Amino acid sequence: GETIGILGGGQLGRMLAMAAAQLGYRCHVYAPEADSIAAEVCAAFTCAGWDDAAALAAFAADCAVVTYEFENVPVGPLAALGHTPLLPGARALEVAQDRLSEKTFVSGLGGRPAPFAAVDDAAGLAEAIAAIGVPGILKTRRDGYDGKGQWRIMAPADAVGLDLPATPLIYEGFIDFRAEFSVILCRAADGDVRFWDTPENVHQGGILARSTVPGSTLVRDEVAEARALARRVADALDYVGVLTLEFFATEAGPVFNEMAPRVHNSGHWTIEGAITSQFENHVRAICGLPLGDTGLAARGVVMDNLIGDAAHDWPALLADPANHLHLYGKAAARPGRKMGHVTRLVLD
Ligand code: ATP
Ligand code: MG
Ligand code: MG
Repeated sequence: GETIGILGGGQLGRMLAMAAAQLGYRCHVYAPEADSIAAEVCAAFTCAGWDDAAALAAFAADCAVVTYEFENVPVGPLAALGHTPLLPGARALEVAQDRLSEKTFVSGLGGRPAPFAAVDDAAGLAEAIAAIGVPGILKTRRDGYDGKGQWRIMAPADAVGLDLPATPLIYEGFIDFRAEFSVILCRAADGDVRFWDTPENVHQGGILARSTVPGSTLVRDEVAEARALARRVADALDYVGVLTLEFFATEAGPVFNEMAPRVHNSGHWTIEGAITSQFENHVRAICGLPLGDTGLAARGVVMDNLIGDAAHDWPALLADPANHLHLYGKAAARPGRKMGHVTRLVLD
């Protein structure tokens, strides 16, 4: 079989590599960090960092196609991939790795994000708060995930004396949402688009805690509009692979939160809960194979993340035969770190 290159070495890369292996592919993981958990299930590529052009070129030379499991990969150095195709493309990466460009891009396609303003310093923050109001959330434009790099501003006084990082920021109005959900689709190179059922997502402390399929009627009522937007985003980027858009369900319809140009935590339930998982369809799409059925394989599915350093009782979880346990093999548990997940199918 051919070799697929994966940029990024976390659990998403690990699950992609496992799906690729099932289809007869080999994977190489390009991950600057020493403790890549994806590299434990496939070949690791030694490199000095994301901007190591010689290493990227050698990595690409081994691969039929390169994909990414991490949207914060710097785009400039990827020129070193040369003629090896990058799927999804660099444009999707570029748009999605900056909250300002992501919101601007999706607005241009008819999406409605929370009101937002770019912030570069304390004066800019005061202006943004005056224009948008409180409550709101200040976020780093780049590199944030699992709610990291965010500050909630409940009153203008909260912004006074904030120790702002020396990096571009964005201030957005707080959405009083009824529920959260994500649209997860896969687009093939020929333009075929398939959607999985829409999970309703619950976050705790900015981190996904639970995804439930099907979602409540609050969510189901807004899926058609959200899907139409997600399809426009995928088409506009000539996207190939799995794409996720996160939404807030509100009285006024779906409000766009952010997009991820990759497989997504809120799609982990598809491994057992859908006919074809997000990981398998991503591999199929980037390898030019027909997409598999995204239909539900159960009446319902609940996926719970196993987060942090609480002593999880794996044997107790496994004692219930309906539970599918996934552990990512991370050596050290830290507060807020995703250590695994458990998926439970509702069959009757
Ligand atoms: P991810 O791990 O999903 O990439 P992230 O760090 O990019 O997360 P966001 O998705 O921006 O963070 O925010 C995390 C969560 O915080 C959201 O899912 C939502 O629960 C809450 N949140 C973020 N922005 C807003 C907002 N404008 N209004 C209300 N809640 C918000
Ligand atoms: Mg994010
Ligand atoms: Mg998010």
